Amino acid sequence: MVIDCHTHLDDDGGADKLLRSMDEAKIDASIVIAETLPGEISNAAQVLEAVNQSERLWAIVNCVFSRTVELKYVEELTQLLLGDRVVGLKFYLGYEEYSPNDERLYQLYEYCEKHAVPIMFHTGVLEAGSSGLLEYSHPLQVDRVATRFPNLTIVMAHMGNPWLIDCAAVLAKNENVYADMSAFFAENKSITAHDVEVFKQRMEQVRVFLYSYDKFLFGTDYPLYSQKEYLGAVEALDMQSDEHERVMYANAARVFGIATS
Ligand SMILES: [Zn+2]
Repeated sequence: MVIDCHTHLDDDGGADKLLRSMDEAKIDASIVIAETLPGEISNAAQVLEAVNQSERLWAIVNCVFSRTVELKYVEELTQLLLGDRVVGLKFYLGYEEYSPNDERLYQLYEYCEKHAVPIMFHTGVLEAGSSGLLEYSHPLQVDRVATRFPNLTIVMAHMGNPWLIDCAAVLAKNENVYADMSAFFAENKSITAHDVEVFKQRMEQVRVFLYSYDKFLFGTDYPLYSQKEYLGAVEALDMQSDEHERVMYANAARVFGIATS
């Protein structure tokens, strides 16, 4: 069983190619994450339509930060979170230039904590030329939220890359925080044997610090990567069988409440 906990819609706005890619890579389920598009609108409606096509797809909707100050918006968002196939809420932080510690977000965190909705923060680099701010996507930003909301389950997308050790420190300290392994490599390029070596070396440093990969979730950031190649890279990590099971699907199944058979 393999769950890819971090994918997005295909370039054509659908998920047909994703489903084919999953077949090819032998991935059982994927979580499709909604994004904030230019003009501060979310593509959540499209994501929900796409995931309804298949029992193998699940959705994470996103918070458009500029709208959290609007009356009614939180209600709108919490309605979306009630959807059958919606398993979490994503915050893009640096991209939309806000800190996870902005108090305007607390009511959403409280809602998610109360209703056991896991949240995902973008952490790590921003695309070249982005107008966002890196300081808000540094893993250390997550420590304060995680401490203040100990019953809120948090996933740091991209392991805070390149700040992997900082991410590991946040994971080690906070029981309620996990990290997904997505988007480690150069986007829209094939993952080479050399890339896999570098990945293994850098992940070994994380292991020395955390002793295991028990708090990591397999994720790719498809369609920026080939799921099959990405899976190959993660499979190359040195993992015990119980650890492998947790990384490949058990953590995602538990964190996002996805039933696996
Ligand atoms: Zn992503």
